[in-house]
Amino acid sequence: MPRLSEVIAVLETLWPAERAESWDAVGTVVGEPDQEVTRVLFAVDPVQETVDEAVKLGADLLVTHHPLYLRGTTTVAASTFKGRVVHTLIKNDVALHVAHTNADTADPGVSDALAGALDLRVVRPLVPDPTDPEGRRGLGRVCELDHPLTVRELAARAAGRLPATAQGIRVAGDPEALVRTVAVSGGSGDSLFDQVRAAGVDAFLTADLRHHPASEFMAARAHSPLALLDAAHWATEWPWCELAAAQLDEISDRHGWGLRVHVSKTVTDPWTAHAASSATDISGAPN
Ligand SMILES: [Zn+2]
Repeated sequence: MPRLSEVIAVLETLWPAERAESWDAVGTVVGEPDQEVTRVLFAVDPVQETVDEAVKLGADLLVTHHPLYLRGTTTVAASTFKGRVVHTLIKNDVALHVAHTNADTADPGVSDALAGALDLRVVRPLVPDPTDPEGRRGLGRVCELDHPLTVRELAARAAGRLPATAQGIRVAGDPEALVRTVAVSGGSGDSLFDQVRAAGVDAFLTADLRHHPASEFMAARAHSPLALLDAAHWATEWPWCELAAAQLDEISDRHGWGLRVHVSKTVTDPWTAHAASSATDISGAPN
């Protein structure tokens, strides 16, 4: 059985902490280095539901994409939401390790997993990491489709392949436009609009798109058919859990560790229901 410190050393080779953004908080949050690890759970969010899932599963290590504490704190009292998480982890001997922006830019990383879930062929990073001489690491991915799809078909594919959420997929642009190339970025992607425009792709699939940035992006795209596809943040990052679990599984086999590696089945998207509009479309109404 490997010790926690050995498993974490391996995770650090996949997602080195020094490749995280300066504002990020990655690495081990809770854990006893000498503790033996037999079972690992991967999840997007370090929330009570996924921690409870780890405890129920008998996992010794929970690896999440999102940090528990992004800023400093003065309390881990169990009366606080995050303090309760810390207490549950320690009381049940479950370690917590975070790979966030260092997993986003890794090769393979979060957006490779998103592209893979949609059967998109990755061509290059959308924003290459300047410190990578091979140009394989970076934020987002520019991808090609083996066969062109309409925006509507691509949205349907995303809705069918990503885990189910109340939101589904929202589309901006002509649903019948043909898509041959698509940029993808797991998580919030509206800071990447300039790079998406420069990439000359037909569509951009990401999450958390807001009214003003999306409106301005659509207005500025001139005559390009560029469409936006907006999925739930959690759903765009969940495929990484499967990719990361497979990576650790393979390493465990190589070391003869016999780790049991699991992927969380808990939906931690905060949105739980969706009502399609049923009011009259006001655009055709007489003034
Ligand atoms: Zn995220």
